[in-house]
Amino acid sequence: MTVKWHPEFDLLVEYAAGNLCTAQAMMVATHLQYCPHCKSAVNKLEILGGELMSKTPNSSSETVSPDVWQNTLAAIAKPAPKPQPKRSLMQRIAPNGLSALDWKGLGPVQTAHVDLGDERNGRLSLLKIRAGARVPVHSHHGNEWTLVLEGGFSDHMGKYNAGDFVCLDGNHKHSPVAAVNEDCICMAYVDEQLHFQGWLGPILNRVIKL
Ligand SMILES: [Zn+2]
Repeated sequence: MTVKWHPEFDLLVEYAAGNLCTAQAMMVATHLQYCPHCKSAVNKLEILGGELMSKTPNSSSETVSPDVWQNTLAAIAKPAPKPQPKRSLMQRIAPNGLSALDWKGLGPVQTAHVDLGDERNGRLSLLKIRAGARVPVHSHHGNEWTLVLEGGFSDHMGKYNAGDFVCLDGNHKHSPVAAVNEDCICMAYVDEQLHFQGWLGPILNRVIKL
């Protein structure tokens, strides 16, 4: 199935430059394993960055030779290598398979924390929504990035399937619903906890933690 939702180009630039925190980088890297389009863009950015880093003199008074630009453009024009198999990153996150993770929470929505050893800038979790179930309405004080790994879900903005990457900020509130035919498993990055609303909100805020 074709990936329809992608990270913003600026985010790919930050990824290629190595400026993202571990959790953010893991999200983008996993999306790249589903998405030849973004994989190709990142490859070209990395080639461009590598060429500029290796060829640019330390002295700011010197200029870059025309050959550098020719070589860079030639490198960009080459077709990107095929995306790597999906196994390596997922093996790191779930070495014994997604079902063997320490899923927490009762009912239709469960979460499993991914310990990357670095949570200074946010947390990475996996979210499992039972087929056809709805995640209660919540808003975001910070950013919430979601990457669909298996199955799919929909909200008021559209439908998302495996590989789709969705970024929401504090201006959004939504209530995702999993597709009816299979459980939906997503990777989620948040830099602040979600804020569930309604009369169940105070309970859900304690039970469902990403
Ligand atoms: Zn993409």
